[in-house]
Amino acid sequence: MWYLYVAEISFYAVIIGILFAIFKIKKIEKLKTVLIILPIFMVLTIGVTFTLQEPEIKVKEAISYEIGEKTSLDKVEATYHFVDVSEKVKTEENIDFNKIGKYEVKYTVPSILGDYTKVQTVEIFDTTSPVIILEGNEVEEISYKDEYKEAGYTVSDNSNEDLNDKVVITKEEVNDKEYKLIYTVEDSSKNIGTATRIIKLIDKEPPELKLNGSEKIDIELNSKYDEKGAKATDEIDGDLTDKIEITGKVDTAKVGKYTITYKVKDNSGNEAKKTRTITVYKKEEKVDTSNKNNNNTNTNSNKNQNNNSNNSTSKSSGTIYLTFDDGPTSSITPKILDILKSRGIKATFFIINYSSANEKLVKREVNEGHTVAIHGYSHNYKEIYKSVDTYMNNIKKLQDKIKKSTGYNATITRFPGGSSNTVSRFNPGIMTKLTKKVVEKGYKYFDWNVDSNDAGGARSSEAVYNNVIKGLKKNRANVVLMHDFSGNTKTVNALNDIIDYGLANGYKFSNITKSTPMVTHRVQN
Ligand code: ZN
Repeated sequence: MWYLYVAEISFYAVIIGILFAIFKIKKIEKLKTVLIILPIFMVLTIGVTFTLQEPEIKVKEAISYEIGEKTSLDKVEATYHFVDVSEKVKTEENIDFNKIGKYEVKYTVPSILGDYTKVQTVEIFDTTSPVIILEGNEVEEISYKDEYKEAGYTVSDNSNEDLNDKVVITKEEVNDKEYKLIYTVEDSSKNIGTATRIIKLIDKEPPELKLNGSEKIDIELNSKYDEKGAKATDEIDGDLTDKIEITGKVDTAKVGKYTITYKVKDNSGNEAKKTRTITVYKKEEKVDTSNKNNNNTNTNSNKNQNNNSNNSTSKSSGTIYLTFDDGPTSSITPKILDILKSRGIKATFFIINYSSANEKLVKREVNEGHTVAIHGYSHNYKEIYKSVDTYMNNIKKLQDKIKKSTGYNATITRFPGGSSNTVSRFNPGIMTKLTKKVVEKGYKYFDWNVDSNDAGGARSSEAVYNNVIKGLKKNRANVVLMHDFSGNTKTVNALNDIIDYGLANGYKFSNITKSTPMVTHRVQN
């Protein structure tokens, strides 16, 4: 307001100055009066101006604030007649500083001419972008086979609007191993917030591994195992066949089950594994109808074997009948009985004449549940195969002795040398007659179809063991020929292992009884 006063004073000063100059030059007397009166007008004019002066409220007409930036208006300065009247300013407003909008503020100061009011416009605006906070990882690795499963997000914005439902997600390919998910949200003031999640596509899938050929292969003993290998392909890395590691070995010289393992890893370290089972088996024995052992006169080892058993139950169960010939002997028989007892296994003893000292062994065989069977009072081929009668008397004599010793009626027999023996050929046709005769007389005779060869070529317990397990076959009655003659420790030493093998391979052990179907050779004399 000061300029008004300056203007008024200047105006009067100029007028007075001009009048004064005229008066000095022309000496007009009237002007003297005017010069005296004019300052009075000047004072009056200034006084009126002063009185009519409006208060000054120092605010802008329009002002704007960011939402939430302020909680109240600043203090207003005001002057009236050059005096600070800030304290007297009354402010009228209804601004919500947290809500976008235009508000009017009225400032009022009292004056001589009544209340003086100044109006101000306050705008609350929003220029701050919403913020999207991602849950889960900002860089996520997933299998190239999977779709990314959204882990979620929350939006925060100064407008306090709920913007969670307004987020738009767009997918942007980076390359075939990576893409971006771009999250965008816009608030009501058109401020845009974004966030980015990077999805890396990695290989979590193992390669596909395929065996060439069957997963289970059965091959015959001593034949050749041909490794057919495998194929590996990976959706990412392609053909990985060259990277397949093959471990394991097949010993085709040994009956058993072998496992070959195939492993392959893709470039991302995902492993695939497969196995192949190879069973090396011994070929089923076939009945040899030709006669090749005419000159074999000393051992039981090279017989053509023929299992005539037709009992389906004993066949399917895979039974092992352990048989011990030519005992009892004080050195071997007790040891065999001890092992059988400890393993809970019953066997069959084809005995010959025994001394009174060994009678207790025959009793023990009966008492411990074994079958005591007749091999012959004598084992002398020349003597026993002289005639049908000499043979029949030979077995009857032992049968009676066993009955006297134990009360047990032995009816199971085994021909010395077996029914297929050729040692009786000095008496042609004798075996043909005897094999019929013994059955007629109510006996049953048993040969064998597994030869331990412990009376022949087997010189060690390992050889005895190997001969037995090689001869065993599933799904039949396996009659195993062994001996408890004096000094036969190799059979004693092999016995536990043979039992272990049999049990481990699902065989059942049994003694021969009257109801056991006969296992016989083909008669050759
Ligand atoms: Zn014998």
